[in-house]
Amino acid sequence: MNYKINISKVESSKVDSLDFDNIPLGKTFTDHMFICDYENGAWTNPRIEPLKPIATHPAAMALHYGQAIFEGMKATVTKEGEPLLFRPAKNAERLNFSADRMGMPDFPENLFIEGLKQLVDLEKKWIPPVEGSALYLRPFMYADEPFIGMRAATSYKFIIMASPSGPFFTKRIKLYAETKYIRAAEGGTGEAKAAGNYAAAIRPTELAKAKGYDQVLWLDPHEFNYIQEVGTMNIFFKIAGKFYTPNLNGAILNGITRLSVIELLKARGFEVIERQITLEEIIEASNNGTLEEAFGTGTAVGIAMIEAIGYKDLNIHVSDENPVGQMIQDTINGIRSGAMVDEFNWMVKTEKELV
Ligand SMILES: *Cc1c(COP(=O)(O)O)cnc(C)c1O
Repeated sequence: MNYKINISKVESSKVDSLDFDNIPLGKTFTDHMFICDYENGAWTNPRIEPLKPIATHPAAMALHYGQAIFEGMKATVTKEGEPLLFRPAKNAERLNFSADRMGMPDFPENLFIEGLKQLVDLEKKWIPPVEGSALYLRPFMYADEPFIGMRAATSYKFIIMASPSGPFFTKRIKLYAETKYIRAAEGGTGEAKAAGNYAAAIRPTELAKAKGYDQVLWLDPHEFNYIQEVGTMNIFFKIAGKFYTPNLNGAILNGITRLSVIELLKARGFEVIERQITLEEIIEASNNGTLEEAFGTGTAVGIAMIEAIGYKDLNIHVSDENPVGQMIQDTINGIRSGAMVDEFNWMVKTEKELV
């Protein structure tokens, strides 16, 4: 199906007021947004218009019952000024996976990609040119039907916003292995990028920060022993030369960076094993000197090197140096900026292809 996206532009862009060397994280938005309404069983009126607040009825169902999901992705620009998207079809697919879990309607994947391309193309001056920085894109969907009562809403909005972000100078992070609160259980909503998952993580994350850690390391909900993931990142360990990451068991978010890191590691000749990983194994590997590296992976941060894990009274030393983690970070950034060959065919151009 073909969609006509109506475009109404701002009179004058705010891009000239942006200091690209000093972008306040998550607070700066581009001039326009992509927006589409779901009514009477169909998505209608896809459009790009000036970004502005939207009037919401106080009974909008997302506010009460939490039908709200999102995606996170990045657009980069080559030195020739050409915008590139990183594996956008994966985000379109995952949005619909989340929608399905939350009883929300599918969003047409071709319209997702087309809206994204047209928005990024219109906002290309906002894409920070420095390697490691990007235009962060936030597609999301929420129930806006005014209704008090428990059922799936009948009207929704799908929106894509864009927010420039500077290079992330990630320091090495310390994780707190949480043994009281959980993030997700099999059969729950952990595998969906559902807004409520993050609300539930806020308090435990504040408590971990108050203890001097950067992020929570989530453990399984039954024994607090199997490792799940970190904040908004999946996790990898390198033990005696091999990489390990928790298998997707229904409670772990299926990260697109995770998938890309697995592909890249395998292409570089590393063995990558997806299976359950216990904290005991990590403690043992740390003690016997076989724990070589650990890092988190996610769109927002890229690769975050892990220094230590706090678990009960233990401080587990994890890694001091991450040569492979660094290689991955540099390769992904290099491919995104067009400086390295896109050997995996990850990048998608926003400009119309001539057919
Ligand atoms: C978004 C997210 C990730 C990372 O996914 P990417 O697709 O790599 O950005 C990992 N864990 C959680 C809980 C997330 O929300």
